Amino acid sequence: MEIAEKLYIGDVVEMRKAHPCGGKEWTIDRVGADIGLVCNTCGRRVLLTRRKFARGAKRFITRGPDAEG
Ligand SMILES: [Zn+2]
Repeated sequence: MEIAEKLYIGDVVEMRKAHPCGGKEWTIDRVGADIGLVCNTCGRRVLLTRRKFARGAKRFITRGPDAEG
């Protein structure tokens, strides 16, 4: 994913690497210098730098309500 990709709270993304719980889908709950993600499978929350997020994110599954289009 591009580092400049616009991110919105509520976006659901698939990450390249599965979480230890086996889940690959995460919901974005914070957008700033760091990106907050909640694992959709186990509910664990992590913070990633934008760079790490861009490297680890594979694709959007659904976009949050604030995303245009
Ligand atoms: Zn998990």
